[in-house]
Amino acid sequence: MDGCIFCKIIKKELPSTIYYENERVIAIKDINPATPVHVLIIPKEHIESVKDITSDNANVLIDIHIAANAVAEQLGIKDKGYRLITNCGKGAGQTVFHLHYHLLGGIEMNPKII
Ligand code: AMP
Ligand code: ZN
Repeated sequence: MDGCIFCKIIKKELPSTIYYENERVIAIKDINPATPVHVLIIPKEHIESVKDITSDNANVLIDIHIAANAVAEQLGIKDKGYRLITNCGKGAGQTVFHLHYHLLGGIEMNPKII
């Protein structure tokens, strides 16, 4: 999609640090990490946010979880614990409108808000 920063990263028109990639998803290092481990798991198909998941495209959520598991293992946080979250819409803090899940780990997450 024109002007989408993640579509450009997927097409390798912009640089990124890639941890995992297959035909359907890519996992990259967040450029402004909120935690010591902060990875973005991104479907290659341009889907705006989780609100646009339907029975036609929901299979990619399986790929996202498989990628998250692989990256969590690769980066040594699988057993320590981590969060996998997605912001849906401006009001939730979404700033890039191409679906992505944040894989956050490497610190003790307190206070526990959810
Ligand atoms: P959100 O605010 O939930 O939409 O998340 C967008 C995330 O994308 C933020 O954590 C940004 O730091 C991250 N981000 C923005 N541009 C880039 C980029 N070029 N490479 C990697 N991460 C990026
Ligand atoms: Zn996009």
